[in-house]
Amino acid sequence: MKLQVIGDPVLHSKSPVLHGAMLAALGLDAPYTPQVVRRGELPQYLAWARENGVTGFNATMPHKEDLLPLLDEIDPAARAVGAVNTVCLREGRWTGFNTDGAGAVEALRDGLGMDPAGRTAVLLGAGGAAKAVALSLSAAGAKRVWVCNRTMERAEALCRRDPCRRAMPMDFLPATLTNLCRESGLLVNCTSLGMAGCPHQFEDFGFLDALPDGAGVFDLIYHPAETELLSQAKRRGLRTLNGLPMLVNQAVLALERFLNRPLDRRAMGSAATAALASGGSQQRGVRHVK
Ligand code: NAP
Repeated sequence: MKLQVIGDPVLHSKSPVLHGAMLAALGLDAPYTPQVVRRGELPQYLAWARENGVTGFNATMPHKEDLLPLLDEIDPAARAVGAVNTVCLREGRWTGFNTDGAGAVEALRDGLGMDPAGRTAVLLGAGGAAKAVALSLSAAGAKRVWVCNRTMERAEALCRRDPCRRAMPMDFLPATLTNLCRESGLLVNCTSLGMAGCPHQFEDFGFLDALPDGAGVFDLIYHPAETELLSQAKRRGLRTLNGLPMLVNQAVLALERFLNRPLDRRAMGSAATAALASGGSQQRGVRHVK
């Protein structure tokens, strides 16, 4: 078994550390290496990977959407999102999955003890991550997912993809967020506001005051570990969760796809989290497709 993560850039990816730790915990001596693949090079990469015995890979920017027309099979959840992050060679056929949304739902269950079923959620953002998370919350039985985005057209386009029709588009104005928070038990930030290196921040956090007692605030960002949104939410006594458990869970779910068998998710998650915490680095072996 040979595994990779492809992207451009790919050096920042935590996947080699996460997967390296999980493979080691399973006692599997399988390489998992980062590989630079530039936009437009996917057909060349798929041919190279097949010839060189690569049995699965994760995909990051800019390939998650471009891969779809090049694969032999796509899991229905990934097709709904319109993006894949995990590709496996199954009986000679490239098969695509998306584990981001399911990773987020698992993180909510484990980290906040919250099942999305029957809940109303306010979801901020309508980019790639928002799409996966919103559709997974909806598929997990959320009563309503309000998708609030600065660019309304993107929120509308996201909601049109929801086969369950529970995601509804909204604007990103403070008054709108406040009104929606009043009737929601969960707020999920899928924007890049507050991320390290992002020059912008929420203008004000007044909408947090409208969330009912016991509500949860889940920020997909993991760097920094505590964003200003989470720190403000904590100050208001709300329950909080950062993006690290989602990052770990999507990797565990991807490894289950690569190995085509269920794993002890808790044990895998612990191994991966410990490796991240110890600053593990598996960046050797970066290659370019010839
Ligand atoms: P993306 O596709 O670029 O989407 C960015 C989103 O942020 C868009 O909805 C965008 O709104 C919004 N945004 C950016 N600047 C804004 C501003 N100044 N005001 C209001 N909205 C703004 O990015 P992505 O891939 O979805 O990633 C989003 C975040 O999720 C990132 O912080 C990323 O690190 C995190 N993430 C975490 C995980 C994990 O495993 N924990 C996985 C994936 C992503 P417009 O549509 O109006 O531009």
